[in-house]
Amino acid sequence: MFHPVLPRGREDRTVLVSGRGCTVRDTEGRTYLDASSVLGLTQIGHGREEIAQAAAEQMRTLGHFHTWGTISNDKAIRLAARLTDLAPQGLQRVYFTSGGGEGVEIALRMARYFHHRTGSPERTWILSRRTAYHGIGYGSGTVSGSPAYQDGFGPVLPHVHHLTPPDPYHAELYDGEDVTEYCLRELARTIDEIGPGRIAAMIGEPVMGAGGAVVPPPDYWPRVAALLRSHGILLILDEVVTAFGRTGTWFAAEHFGVTPDLLVTAKGITSGYVPHGAVLLTEEVADAVNGETGFPIGFTYTGHPTACAVALANLDIIEREGLLENAVKVGDHLAGRLAALRGLPAVGDVRQLGMMLAVELVSDKTARTPLPGGTLGVVDALREDAGVIVRATPRSLVLNPALVMDRATADEVADGLDSVLRRLAPDGRI
Ligand code: PLP
Repeated sequence: MFHPVLPRGREDRTVLVSGRGCTVRDTEGRTYLDASSVLGLTQIGHGREEIAQAAAEQMRTLGHFHTWGTISNDKAIRLAARLTDLAPQGLQRVYFTSGGGEGVEIALRMARYFHHRTGSPERTWILSRRTAYHGIGYGSGTVSGSPAYQDGFGPVLPHVHHLTPPDPYHAELYDGEDVTEYCLRELARTIDEIGPGRIAAMIGEPVMGAGGAVVPPPDYWPRVAALLRSHGILLILDEVVTAFGRTGTWFAAEHFGVTPDLLVTAKGITSGYVPHGAVLLTEEVADAVNGETGFPIGFTYTGHPTACAVALANLDIIEREGLLENAVKVGDHLAGRLAALRGLPAVGDVRQLGMMLAVELVSDKTARTPLPGGTLGVVDALREDAGVIVRATPRSLVLNPALVMDRATADEVADGLDSVLRRLAPDGRI
């Protein structure tokens, strides 16, 4: 088996076989606390019987049929209605996908096609941010910020420009200026240089996930959205990680009071029990890209009824168990515990919104330089020595606990981090 992100020559593996709640078990019978809910998606925890039943029932009834043209299915229709009820006002239509990156591809296509259909085919440029993550496709991978998705894979998608992300901890990026002011000035200058009539859309995660749970200043998104709108540039919010309670609200856009033209989501929509995703769009975008012939891009699994049945059962659990409220309560508690680690020599920053948390590790607290060798060694030590699974990002340990996690389990996670980070030297040695 070929594992992505596994260095050549390393053969050791933790082979997982089962999971319940926030705990997973390996072939040796050892248990681990899953503080990353896989990759920020198991909102309702592992091993939920209700989900297995919803999937089995739908598989017996109608396992799959596509939703192309005039064919539809009852579960896809019900889920679309449920999503538009929960979504920020104005997002009225739903295009189903099988995951996040695929949703980003569709959103990028729709953004360019919208302008093509409304008389501005020269609007082809897409604005994004450095350190963003949007998926592995040639479109989604190019709008992703890390050079790792582009170097050696070229030529990548043309007409993509990356802006500076709003990262309050890294004041050195903004020449002493206020973070939002700097980013807005850069955005205005970029629009001017490329030409406002040549830009299709800007894409961004409301809170950056793989970039290290980076929470922007509160005025960043409202001001970005207003500037884009004044130039007729569409806003695509990538809520693949942030939706369905991850930040304590159904959608993170609610924190910032913005309604995008297109919103991409996946992961928590089914809590990852089966792959699924959705692109939500305004009536204006839907109408324009549809036209007389219909939007030309569809695929095998769009509107998958089993995935939709699982999503409906998952959303029922999130609502019935008050998981949005729990995400705020336990997220705040865990953030309080992690904040106590700030005094340690290699801990630079602790950030949080709901159940999105990050501990940024540094080799120098003043210069805010990353740990030499990155964070992978720390993540391995956390798993092996403390039995806690967190996600490694280039600079930070990212924690995305299941929204069902209780305070006592959050304390166990914090104790695990405490025990390992206390041994971590700023040169990266443990
Ligand atoms: N967008 C964001 C913000 C993500 O974090 C991810 C995955 O982590 C993706 C898109 C890609 O989603 P997928 O892996 O389902 O294709």
